Amino acid sequence: MVKKFFEPTLLVEGESFQEFIWKPQQLELECENVEFTNNVELQLDCIRWGLEINCVGIVSTVLDLICVRCLEHFDFALENKIEFAVRLAAGAPLSVKLWESDIVNIDTGSGKIDISPRIRDAVILGIPQHPLCKQDCKGLCPVCGANLNFIDCGHNVSQVNESDPRWEKLRDLLRNKQ
Ligand SMILES: [Zn+2]
Ligand SMILES: [Zn+2]
Repeated sequence: MVKKFFEPTLLVEGESFQEFIWKPQQLELECENVEFTNNVELQLDCIRWGLEINCVGIVSTVLDLICVRCLEHFDFALENKIEFAVRLAAGAPLSVKLWESDIVNIDTGSGKIDISPRIRDAVILGIPQHPLCKQDCKGLCPVCGANLNFIDCGHNVSQVNESDPRWEKLRDLLRNKQ
């Protein structure tokens, strides 16, 4: 059962634990070079005091990313923290110090909160800007394009620049000038 809405009025006084799962399509996740292949989960810890609920949670999923060095797909385990407070009555004072955007007012009609925009943000912000399949990824050979993580093609990258035809042309130009 996929749970999408948070129903804070059902929470008892004190601490309670909630789990949510979204399909990637439900969060309308989209990002260049990222495939959202797995469900997004939220483990949410809530503490209710009267008309105030403080929530801290971990958003997690596994993404299919492309390594910027070797261009191979790899699985990336994403984890990002979220924090927000729920006010069960408009204008009720809160004990926590949070940004106004992290304070959620409950829909008095349905008693529910759609927290999916918050989850979508947490996922998007958790995507690395320069994804690497591993910290020491050797990348591709600039001469033959071999994946140097798997193959030693024998090209010595430091010598490559010497024999690069563009450098040859430049050397010719310099020689003619002299
Ligand atoms: Zn790589
Ligand atoms: Zn090579």
